[in-house]
Amino acid sequence: MLDLLGLVVAILVLTVAVAVALVSGRGTRPVAPGPPRPEVDAEPGLGDDAAVPRDTPTRTVEVVALPEEVAAPTPAPVVTPAVVPLDVPEPTAGRLTRLRARLSRSQTTLGRGLFALLSRDVLDEDAWEEVEDTLLGADMGVAAATELVTRLRTRVRVDSVRTLAELRPLLREELVRAIGTDADRTLKTMPHEDGGPAVVLVVGVNGTGKTTTCGKLARVLVADGRSVVLGAADTFRAAAADQLQTWGDRVGASTVRGPEGGDPASVAFDAVARGMRDGVDTVLIDTAGRLHTKTGLMDELGKVKRVIEKHGPVDETLLVLDATTGQNGVVQARVFTEAVTITGIVLTKLDGTAKGGIVIAVQRELGIPVKLIGLGEGPDDLAPFEPEAFADALLGDEAAL
Ligand code: GDP
Repeated sequence: MLDLLGLVVAILVLTVAVAVALVSGRGTRPVAPGPPRPEVDAEPGLGDDAAVPRDTPTRTVEVVALPEEVAAPTPAPVVTPAVVPLDVPEPTAGRLTRLRARLSRSQTTLGRGLFALLSRDVLDEDAWEEVEDTLLGADMGVAAATELVTRLRTRVRVDSVRTLAELRPLLREELVRAIGTDADRTLKTMPHEDGGPAVVLVVGVNGTGKTTTCGKLARVLVADGRSVVLGAADTFRAAAADQLQTWGDRVGASTVRGPEGGDPASVAFDAVARGMRDGVDTVLIDTAGRLHTKTGLMDELGKVKRVIEKHGPVDETLLVLDATTGQNGVVQARVFTEAVTITGIVLTKLDGTAKGGIVIAVQRELGIPVKLIGLGEGPDDLAPFEPEAFADALLGDEAAL
């Protein structure tokens, strides 16, 4: 019995000893090396679990030094749609009459000069020569000035005109005649029968006001209830596309643009495609007017036109001319008439010259009607051209009969 008891005690002692040995041995087992922990800034930040209590609000992207794998995803930017209030352009009807004061202010030299001359007691040869010189001084051009004086002289003689009051309406009539009332000055900006947009190409020497004219014209069209897409095909002047887009944004017209220095023809093509897709009425395309070489310009404009015509016809090609450059501008512009068929002229900066007779010279020399005139840098300072209102403006207030 004693032996059995001894055996049980011995087994118990042995079991306890083994258990103690197992427990104490576990604490000394070597730990396998884990992956190196990424170094973090001393400043507690995202990814540094130990330093950031769970309920502490985490700091955001300021912790820029964190390596990529532990950086928190950047919160998606909140894009608030920009609420750009659109401009409401001035109605176009009667714009020239409204802007007349601006024109006549610079033109009164012509009106005043003529009436001073014509108010002489005797209209002798010298007086008529002076009339002609005054007209030439207004940039009317020799042919038009000579013709006007000849016709006026005949009428004065035939009608036995004696007073200035009688002479004024004759002068106005002759001026209107010289400006021309027969030409079609309407702009073809209505969509085609198949629903495709009308396409207006705007060309001219750099600095004449092409981009500004495109912008102002977009406003004219929007004021008349049309929808417009702008094509920034002047890819050579760095700021041209931005400038055009700013004009477009103000009236809600989208602008199609390409990379700087890119192919103008492809921008023009895309702009028309966009106009077709959006179902707009008119696509206006601004072009570059580099006069580097005549062939270069002709090739470029020719290509722009041809590429657009893959979509459909170009309805208007407007040549922009700076009135302050006078006859020189007309000579320069002739290159464009050889490159593309021009359907109308936009004469800009008429507010900046006393030589409004350039309207007559330009039309005679190029055989193309002036359709629009620029009378200032303001957004609505572009007016459809009306011969009678223009003649009144040329002659100044004295012509108001
Ligand atoms: P582009 O190089 O032919 O595109 O010429 P811009 O459109 O950039 O115009 C050149 C400059 O002429 C700009 O400062 C315009 O504000 C100015 N300009 C354009 N049209 C008129 C106008 O009718 N009157 C005046 N005074 N300035 C104008």
